[in-house]
Amino acid sequence: MIDPVELTRELIRFETINPPGNETPCAEYVGGILERAGFHCAYHPLNGDETRANLIATIGGSPDKKPLCLSGHTDVVPLGAANWSVSPFAADIADGKLYGRGATDMKGGVAAIISAVVELAPRLSGTPGLTLVITAAEERGCQGSNYLVSQDGALGEAGAMLIAEPTSNRPLNGHKGVLWVEGHATGVTGHGSRPETGDNAVYKAARVAAKLETLRLEEGRSLPAALPTLNIGWFHGGMNINSIPDEAKMGLDIRMVPGLSDEDVMAQLNEIGGSDVGFEKMGYSPPVYTKPDDPWYSDVCEIVAEISGERHTPDIATYFTDAEALGRGYGHPPTVILGPGEPDLAHQTDEYCHIYRIEQARAAFLEIARRWCKI
Ligand SMILES: [Zn+2]
Repeated sequence: MIDPVELTRELIRFETINPPGNETPCAEYVGGILERAGFHCAYHPLNGDETRANLIATIGGSPDKKPLCLSGHTDVVPLGAANWSVSPFAADIADGKLYGRGATDMKGGVAAIISAVVELAPRLSGTPGLTLVITAAEERGCQGSNYLVSQDGALGEAGAMLIAEPTSNRPLNGHKGVLWVEGHATGVTGHGSRPETGDNAVYKAARVAAKLETLRLEEGRSLPAALPTLNIGWFHGGMNINSIPDEAKMGLDIRMVPGLSDEDVMAQLNEIGGSDVGFEKMGYSPPVYTKPDDPWYSDVCEIVAEISGERHTPDIATYFTDAEALGRGYGHPPTVILGPGEPDLAHQTDEYCHIYRIEQARAAFLEIARRWCKI
């Protein structure tokens, strides 16, 4: 058996900070393990960059049912400005915790997948089989998964998807979407000593910004899952202290949920902006959502409850994942976000993952894949 904790440590020791990523050595290490276990491995370097390999590994296959997709990314975020109290790539263990950049997000999850599927591999011939999608370049806009979707036939097929991002082993039935919007106020400039001669754009933008703080995007709507959020991420106005500003702008980060459309949100923003602020949509990626009564999702919840002893109500992740791009590629199959990492520790200083959660995740992934393949 491949020890998932030892494998997590091996993976942490590959420095895959994005940028620049340099995920290929890590992807090839994982691919080597999978090939020896009987998987067929194909590498797809991101936009042809040989240092940034995405890996698709497949095994089994039958005409009656599509394979199960298990997915994780190999890149990690930068270390941040604060000093770490442990070495971020030594993968030290203390008090039942495995420390290192990527322990939680998400090399623990990748290692749990690999350890589980290698054990099942000898029995998968003639079954629906498995498709492993190990992406590069997830942390800066899911470039790896989007690249794979753009390459004809690269992804293969999947009848359901498991993304092993950090959830403390709680099965989440999707994740929020992201809507980025810019607000723009204009005015008339003039000398700062005579404010009555101009039209100050900062006041207009500030009035609207204050209203946004208390805006409830969900008001009057019945939503099936979590609530949306809105954050003003930046706000700029004016050029120099002794002029009346004739322009002010703000950037809004809105986390979208199922049942709320981007058009609906834009209409609400424009109503609040009125003649003071115009809003423009800069980018939108929809949420991912599987209904809580989906039979496969229910099975996954049952398996996790048996293994961890913890029963959870359905919920969706606040963060974005590769599930959105991969879901497009696979025709939106049922999807669960489930992994051993601690969501609160992702991207943090002194990131760690509980060892028992990595072991539980391995056991859960093995059982989920076993039932999918009916072996
Ligand atoms: Zn992640």
